Amino acid sequence: MSDERKFERIAIIGIGLIGSSLAHAVKRHDLAGEIVIAEKSQEALDTAMRLGLADRGTLSIPSAVRGADLVMVCTPVGAFAEVGQVMQDHLSPGAIVSDVGSVKQSVVRDLGPCIPEGVHFVPGHPIAGTEHSGPEAGFAELFEGRWCILTPPPGTDRDAIERIASLWRTCGMMIEVMDAGHHDQVLAVTSHLPHLIAFTIVGTATDLGEHIQQEVIKFAASGFRDFTRIAASDPTMWRDIFLNNREALLEVCGRMSEDIAQLQRAIRWGEGEKIEALIRRTREIRRKLIDAKQA
Ligand code: NAP
Repeated sequence: MSDERKFERIAIIGIGLIGSSLAHAVKRHDLAGEIVIAEKSQEALDTAMRLGLADRGTLSIPSAVRGADLVMVCTPVGAFAEVGQVMQDHLSPGAIVSDVGSVKQSVVRDLGPCIPEGVHFVPGHPIAGTEHSGPEAGFAELFEGRWCILTPPPGTDRDAIERIASLWRTCGMMIEVMDAGHHDQVLAVTSHLPHLIAFTIVGTATDLGEHIQQEVIKFAASGFRDFTRIAASDPTMWRDIFLNNREALLEVCGRMSEDIAQLQRAIRWGEGEKIEALIRRTREIRRKLIDAKQA
């Protein structure tokens, strides 16, 4: 990225896994003259400042966004309406407001009305993460080789979209632009449903009798272990994702319940061919993911 495209001041609101990873990447690639962070808790702010993630840190969102030419909202999506209301009167003309939220229609709903005339709004979702949270969890390489979906509302300034795309490209991401509703449907299948399943499976195992529970932990084969990793994700973040992508998530849950019923039936009636055909199909999907370097 050439120097004249560099942001003068990036304000990052919420310095958890994604906010801190962004701060690391911005520093590594010299994408901003100054990084300012706003946090809710003094403890997280102190940790972030100790890690050298920002030039300035504050508990005041207005103070962080004042004079920033890019504001990146990195809090759980349930906090977006409040963040938008608090910052709206303090945004600089010509600034870009973007975000990293895992749901996009609710972000457009909650943050969109808070964007004043003359400020650009480019919602985004870097599809990269781990089960860890907080400012110590971040690292610059998190975004490398992964997709970032941008969902700019119709009529968004093209230059603003390109500047956000360019920022994420420099962090190592590939860019796709789509409608917010379509994003939410796709992510309900690829991310939100798998998390819902992981929370359910691990919850079910926890509800088993104590004797079996101990055996489950002792002999956890890789299948169950993989689910426990996903199920260790942040409760606030996932509560907010489920509640803010309710419609699309309930739709895919319904579809999955039907498919489980079909598989149950095939098992009950000893229909080996049906079972094998399903697993062959899903195995092929795994192979395609590996070929696309997304596994
Ligand atoms: P995280 O590690 O829990 O960090 C969120 C941070 O935001 C926390 O430090 C939290 O502080 C702070 N915060 C909450 N409300 C705030 C407010 N009103 N003002 C200022 N700071 C506030 O979560 P994360 O994993 O970075 O996720 C952040 C966003 O990225 C979410 O919208 C999520 O959907 C999205 N995302 C996550 C992933 C992933 O895999 N983790 C991937 C892509 C996108 P407290 O701890 O004090 O509450």
